Amino acid sequence: MPGGSTPQKFDVIVVGAGPAGSAAAYLLAKKGFKVLVIERGRGAGSKELYGGRVYAAPLREVWPELDKEAPIHRWVRKERISVVNGETVATIEYTASKPVSFTAYLPELAGWMAKKAEEAGALLVDEVRVDEIIVENGKIVGVRSGDDRVYADVVIDAEGANRLLLEKLGMVERASPENLAVGVKEVIKIGGKNIEERFGLEPGEGLAWVLVGVTSGAPGGGFIYTFKDTVSLGVVVHLRGAIKAIESGAFTDHVYKLVEGLRIHPYFRKLWADGDIVEYGAHLTIEGGLSFMPKKLVAPGFVIIGDAAGLLLNTGYTIRGVDFAVYSGKLAAEAVEEAFNKGGPTEENLKVYEEKLRDSFVYKELVKHRGIEKVMKDPDFFTKYPAMLTLTLGKLFEGEYEEPTILEALLSSAREAGVPLLSSLLKLLWVVRRL
Ligand SMILES: Cc1cc2nc3c(=O)[nH]c(=O)nc-3n(C[C@H](O)[C@H](O)[C@H](O)COP(=O)(O)OP(=O)(O)OC[C@H]3O[C@@H](n4cnc5c(N)ncnc54)[C@H](O)[C@@H]3O)c2cc1C
Repeated sequence: MPGGSTPQKFDVIVVGAGPAGSAAAYLLAKKGFKVLVIERGRGAGSKELYGGRVYAAPLREVWPELDKEAPIHRWVRKERISVVNGETVATIEYTASKPVSFTAYLPELAGWMAKKAEEAGALLVDEVRVDEIIVENGKIVGVRSGDDRVYADVVIDAEGANRLLLEKLGMVERASPENLAVGVKEVIKIGGKNIEERFGLEPGEGLAWVLVGVTSGAPGGGFIYTFKDTVSLGVVVHLRGAIKAIESGAFTDHVYKLVEGLRIHPYFRKLWADGDIVEYGAHLTIEGGLSFMPKKLVAPGFVIIGDAAGLLLNTGYTIRGVDFAVYSGKLAAEAVEEAFNKGGPTEENLKVYEEKLRDSFVYKELVKHRGIEKVMKDPDFFTKYPAMLTLTLGKLFEGEYEEPTILEALLSSAREAGVPLLSSLLKLLWVVRRL
């Protein structure tokens, strides 16, 4: 258990009041640890931009009261995946028997999580940026912000994807465009009744919609999520792909034009007709995955959680970020408590965090889907294959007199889209094993 602390010294300092930091702070404060959370933004979650869908089960393990208390907008019952090629759109829809995820605004959700941590006894200081993690005699002992220094037995790094502090510590390299994506989104207010009518939803139900073929050929995709009375639509583009697309002339404008293209697309625009754009944002995000994980997640007196630890999985049809972050915060809290019980937060004692993470669904998911980043970087998946699919469907459904067989339609569409069938089939098999 925590030792005797002076007012300037805490048992644990958590850097960042995102989902990861607040989960760790909440659980540790509940156990009686003296916890300080430092957040550079105004309020928790104020600097974040994300899509909008969160998987509930890992969060319930931290906050069993989640369903009753959290600022949940809609429970996702409908999943849609659309392939867009110019004005043609092919869509698959799935209605789930029971919803396992919900939509929420991240600032509201992160605000709720941070409030829970404060109620449990953690001290949250916002509008303060940590400039440096203090190392003394090979051990992490606290943080510095400007001229102020605060000390703790353990510092938990929950700074999110930009990892400037980890970079300063020499624990990670600067992220390159290979590991980054840029997301741009708009939120349009159309009212709850319109959402339910236009998206075919029952009251309280939500929809998550993934779009392929809306990134002007650059690796990436689009998303649409329904909230209480707003819809969020956005596009995420792999940064290296975006740079290449700009160089090749495929993008002649800024990435935000892609979202505008989606907003005014003839198939989609009626969904938010007469709505007001109430929010707009752009943000860099990590691609996540094992290749983005620091070699070590612990050091003497130090633990790394959430996006900072690379714990994000984007399969192309789902993004698991918030739940992974929260779960890693939970595992870190357990590990810190065990380390104190074993005599102190030495690197050896904190290693139990790495072990717990390796045994958890988070790491197993990342291992199972490893290599998926490669798909995200292959332009064929965002140009040729969508074109082949929509051309095939066009041939099957738009013949005025004659209809080809499915095989004829497929073969001629593959030729037109420039898809070599055998090598593509092998590539698709490789991908399907990792999705
Ligand atoms: C465009 C986009 C779409 C996404 N869509 C989804 C989605 O639909 N579902 C999903 O589950 N996930 C999604 N994600 C991922 C999700 O947002 C992250 O995985 C999640 O927020 C990670 O939580 P975290 O606590 O690790 O980091 P963050 O949420 O980034 O929190 C880090 C916090 O640390 C603070 N901070 C950073 N540096 C300092 C410092 N030096 N001093 C003090 N404070 C600091 C930041 O201000 C921030 O509040 C998306 C991300 C993006 C960018």
